[in-house]
Amino acid sequence: MSKLDGLHPIVRQKAEALIAICAAAKLPIIVTQGLRTDEEQAALWAKGRTAPGPKVTNAKPGHSYHNYGLAFDIAVVKNGRPTWDDKVSVDGDETPDYVEVGEIGEQLGLEWGGRWKFRDLPHFQMRFGLSLADLKSGKRPTIEGDVVQLPVRPVSVA
Ligand SMILES: [Zn+2]
Repeated sequence: MSKLDGLHPIVRQKAEALIAICAAAKLPIIVTQGLRTDEEQAALWAKGRTAPGPKVTNAKPGHSYHNYGLAFDIAVVKNGRPTWDDKVSVDGDETPDYVEVGEIGEQLGLEWGGRWKFRDLPHFQMRFGLSLADLKSGKRPTIEGDVVQLPVRPVSVA
């Protein structure tokens, strides 16, 4: 299993390109999360609410692009270990690595969580023009990135 399994093929291709470009730029990164199932999202939502610990997400199941395979998170790797220090600069220049990686991701056509009001520096996604409401109603990007409407109730196969 790879963390990239279950990502939309276009998103996966961009994640792989981001890893390769960052490695070549001496900014090693790993993908820490890709597709997140509704069960996994529900467990995250519970943290800081009905389960112990601090809150880690504002997204209920079905309310994150991760739940549709359209988002992934990265971590900058320092001395062989992931670091979430938003000031870290493994390559030794003045720009934090998370910002450099974010800008490279944007050049690849990814939306970067570092631009959001509630910054999510490790997060990248592609919406394909679809809101979360669209996704919840069964609209999905095809492998070419066009939009199709799925049946609202999945057809059960005997
Ligand atoms: Zn994320």
